Amino acid sequence: MPENISTSNEITFASLNLAQPLMRAIADAGYTTPTPVQAQAIPLVLAGGDLLAGAQTGTGKTAGFTLPILHLLSAKPAANPRPGRPRCLILVPTRELAAQVEESAQTYGKYLPLKSMVMFGGVNINPQMKALRGQVDILVATPGRLLDHVGQKTLDLSGVEILVLDEADRMLDMGFIRDIKKILALLPKQRQNLLFSATFSDEIKTLSDGLLHNPGYVEVARRNSTVELIAQSVHMVPQKLKSHLLSHLIKHHDWKQVLVFTRTKHGANRLTEKLIADGIPAAAIHGNKSQPARTKALAQFKDGSLPVLVATDIAARGLDIDQLPHVVNFELPNVPEDYVHRIGRTGRAGSSGAAISLVDKEELQFLRDIERLIKREIPVVAIDNFAPPANLPAEAPRPPRQAQGQRRNNAPRTAGAGNRHQPPRESQGQKQKPRNPQQREQQPRNPQQREQQPRNGQPSAKPRPAQKTTEQQHQSEAARHQAMPQPALFSPKPGVRRGR
Ligand code: AMP
Repeated sequence: MPENISTSNEITFASLNLAQPLMRAIADAGYTTPTPVQAQAIPLVLAGGDLLAGAQTGTGKTAGFTLPILHLLSAKPAANPRPGRPRCLILVPTRELAAQVEESAQTYGKYLPLKSMVMFGGVNINPQMKALRGQVDILVATPGRLLDHVGQKTLDLSGVEILVLDEADRMLDMGFIRDIKKILALLPKQRQNLLFSATFSDEIKTLSDGLLHNPGYVEVARRNSTVELIAQSVHMVPQKLKSHLLSHLIKHHDWKQVLVFTRTKHGANRLTEKLIADGIPAAAIHGNKSQPARTKALAQFKDGSLPVLVATDIAARGLDIDQLPHVVNFELPNVPEDYVHRIGRTGRAGSSGAAISLVDKEELQFLRDIERLIKREIPVVAIDNFAPPANLPAEAPRPPRQAQGQRRNNAPRTAGAGNRHQPPRESQGQKQKPRNPQQREQQPRNPQQREQQPRNGQPSAKPRPAQKTTEQQHQSEAARHQAMPQPALFSPKPGVRRGR
């Protein structure tokens, strides 16, 4: 059991009245006690009602809905069993989450005669079509590919008895609302609906109000509350030295498993190339990477054979890669909550988890807002034994970053602004705007919702509103941080290498 998963003390799995084949699978998985979201959600789902649950990855929410769904489906035979006609549809935002959820359905359902299937884009559609010619009880899907199958009449949604929207807030963030509405229109009116979301924005409220009927309500502690248990630190470092410093840190401390977050897909690629050039095996995972490349990188990272995974926020969402020893913020996120999501992947008290942020002085405003959210100062730590390489090229001027706290889908609407700095797509047949719906997975529809594009020296269409008003705060923040002991990298000695 992951060390950082809290369990419920009063309620046992036995008291939840789950079918024996499920109890055996739970025992095989090594779970002894239900987590809080399981203890609360399982009885509500078993009772047949709708559910609104505030829970995120890492709380055990997947078993919280998968176990009772398997119980309900196995207790009652399908009314009209036909190939390619699932009884339960689980919609998720990302391919990786789809794969994880379906794996859970298989794990918990292994002693039951139910069949599950996963469906997402970026991979050949033919094996999915073939699978749909057989029995499918539980379908886990991302919205775009699901609609492709509907369009090709390979999937029949008229038998769906239970609908799950998992990570609903992420799906809305990624611009899937229109697809979700189209899918809802294809489902039978009479069904059970379960909605899981880490946050409750007005959009989620609107969605749940229209979808759920007298729902049961469950909310479990957000990861924000665990932040104080993670060892956090900041290294102040100019942007152009960050990749050198990261190589140094990984080598010097012999880090074995590091998840690095970059702001852009392009930045993730560049950093990965630099690490590999420095002799550190690394792979990037983001929306422009082919699905097989993403799956391979993630598998290698999880099994420990790949020490560094460089990811963008969107690609890393929902990944069950908790208990990491090191998470590095190569750039601070614009949205403070994303910082909490990122660092929540490290170990907790008792384990050696550390969250390290490399912060350029331009990012001090972001740091300040993160500190305000988590209600604590993150210590600035000087770095020993690091001397940056001599003769670094001068850094190109960069456009201001999006204001802190502005979510991607709240960005100002400026025609074409999101595409202007689009990096060249990787050679997997993807066009700037994928025309084939199979290629749309994880490409949020609204360009402003896409992962931010690389800085290329051009000013953005609209100035960052927060910038002018917070200039003085920037300065005092800079003064606070510069009053701290400064690492060697602020007084570079050309040609002198003190690190390894
Ligand atoms: P999830 O939030 O669904 O992504 O689950 C996070 C992790 O918790 C997964 O690795 C599960 O295998 C694990 N897990 C789920 N339920 C339990 C439980 N009752 N006891 C221990 N671990 C669990």
